[in-house]
Amino acid sequence: MDSRVVNKGQLPELLDKLARDHTLIAPVREEENVTLFKKVSGASEVQLDYITSDVSPKGCIFPQTEKTISYTYTGDTLEMKEQDEPPKTVLFGVRPCDINSILALDPVFEGKFLDTYYLEKRKNTVIIGLSCSTILSTCFCTAFNSGPCDGKGADLMFTELGDKYYVEVNTEKGSSLVEAYSQYFSKGDTDKLAKAKEEQAKKLEGQFRRKVDLEGVKQVLDENFELPYWDKVFKKCLGCGICTYVCPTCHCFDIFDYVTGEFTGDRFRCWDSCMFPDFTLMAGGHNPRPSRKERVRNRFMHKLKYHLDRYNLDGCVGCGRCISKCPVNIDITQIIKDLKEVGQNA
Ligand code: SF4
Ligand code: SF4
Repeated sequence: MDSRVVNKGQLPELLDKLARDHTLIAPVREEENVTLFKKVSGASEVQLDYITSDVSPKGCIFPQTEKTISYTYTGDTLEMKEQDEPPKTVLFGVRPCDINSILALDPVFEGKFLDTYYLEKRKNTVIIGLSCSTILSTCFCTAFNSGPCDGKGADLMFTELGDKYYVEVNTEKGSSLVEAYSQYFSKGDTDKLAKAKEEQAKKLEGQFRRKVDLEGVKQVLDENFELPYWDKVFKKCLGCGICTYVCPTCHCFDIFDYVTGEFTGDRFRCWDSCMFPDFTLMAGGHNPRPSRKERVRNRFMHKLKYHLDRYNLDGCVGCGRCISKCPVNIDITQIIKDLKEVGQNA
């Protein structure tokens, strides 16, 4: 792995240049202190000191709503216009848990059926990660083989160390970007900074307040589809779906057609939520998940079992958003603890 150094004072200029040459998407603080990722025109709009964004950056590759095709019926034929190729994009300032979530989404969209809408954006996006410097009480990424300075999945990983950023160059995409903007990336004292980064990572890992141990949890779910425990958990849930909308690994979507004229229309896809009753409602009226109990169980089964079964990857990355945003304090780390206990008492 190659590494470089960027002087902190030069970062604004680098971001301005990236925004001029690409679509630059970065964390931005909106009204009412909401932090989300959006297109910026330069460094002055970027919020570097955020901890966990309220809305994850997954929407940059898998948008909340996107038009997939437009169509015109000409009498004999149906003409379809696909999406334009997505612009060359730099996604800057992504925290390790959210990078990990993109790795969890990749096999979903690149499985038996190739989802070109996702894959084209993914191909055209350079991910620049930014190590965390503060740990929230809801963070638990270390439970999923990650950590506050983990650069796995990032093309370039920036770690702030004093008046410098230590930059790990992890991929070809990252290397090309470094080459194109070489005036900002010096060879500097990378060995010293690599050590400083390791120390910083260790120090931060000691600050996690949630000690989450997943040992045995999947086995409990493998062996027990019906558990009296779910009767207790679901009663609190309001079915609002917030947990699924803020989750960086949730990926369910709906497709609908919007008729724009007598013979024309647009097809959209938009995020959906397995917490909604009509998510599994079939045309004949049957619903295999008729109550909140089945829907709550499904959500946790998906995070802690199904994603692992399908892709050998965790379906949760420990970002903690569903914990901090759930209006009735349903806490996935408590569920993990409870399921462990179920296993131990079996
Ligand atoms: S955010 Fe909480 S209340 Fe809302 S659907 Fe999720 S678990 Fe239920
Ligand atoms: S389940 Fe909760 S903690 Fe896990 S990735 Fe989704 S929002 Fe984050």
